[in-house]
Amino acid sequence: MRRLAIGRGLVFEFLEPYRTNVMVVLTERHILLCDTFCGPDPVRQLLTLIEEVGVHGRRVVVFNSHHHYDHVWGNCAFVRPAAVCHALCLEYMRATWAQDIRTYAHHMMGHVEFRAPAVVFGDSLHLRRLDVWLWHTPGHTLDSSSCYDPVGRVLFVGDNVESPIPYLTALNTQEYLHTLQTYLDLEWDAMVASHDVPMEDDQLLQRNMEYLTRFAHWDGSLFSGAEETIARHIVNLAEVAAEVVRLRPEGAHEHYATALDAIAERPSLRPDGIHMARLRNVVDALA
Ligand SMILES: [Zn+2]
Repeated sequence: MRRLAIGRGLVFEFLEPYRTNVMVVLTERHILLCDTFCGPDPVRQLLTLIEEVGVHGRRVVVFNSHHHYDHVWGNCAFVRPAAVCHALCLEYMRATWAQDIRTYAHHMMGHVEFRAPAVVFGDSLHLRRLDVWLWHTPGHTLDSSSCYDPVGRVLFVGDNVESPIPYLTALNTQEYLHTLQTYLDLEWDAMVASHDVPMEDDQLLQRNMEYLTRFAHWDGSLFSGAEETIARHIVNLAEVAAEVVRLRPEGAHEHYATALDAIAERPSLRPDGIHMARLRNVVDALA
């Protein structure tokens, strides 16, 4: 695990089972953890490292960017629930908890238990004593929120910004673009996304916006370029398939048909069976 000094605090970079950052904001009396990764063990490990740099006796506050397991499983490292999240995040956490424990058991680090966040917010929340803003930023998921530290000039965006392109879980490209625009409008020196190297510029943010714009137009050029990017785009199409069938947006049928053609040409792009069935279902349903 690597440790980087950023803003008023630190970013801990875990590399297994995949790169994940936990951002820490240090103030005179508090330690704010942005997300808690895959369990209580890495959280205890990073708290020990924080103590080694001479930080003792400060109150820990946890912020969860969204309900996915790799962002919340370490919440139970604390006896008293100290977590803060968006109201939808708590709702989704409850709804998906048991299934995620079964599906991702092999990623669990330490003994994971459900511990409901103590505070939920709606549009935004100013943590006055820490001088940090949390606000609802739907994008990667509908419950996603972000953390802005105007003192350290650092922005934590969870999974809303990701390379090469973000994962979509809803057909919410316009709302997602609006969220990314709010990131552009803020003044920051560092942007921390959960699964990328911390950034000092907005290049990836711009590239993610370009992807979402092309997605919104069902742009066929999304099937050319790097294979990793096309494969992830196909996963995104599968994730939003049910909504596409319901809403029947113009241009979607042709785009899904092109996806099936691309997969037929390049078998290495082929998604898993469930995703493949969803893609076929869209093509059949909208024919
Ligand atoms: Zn994640």
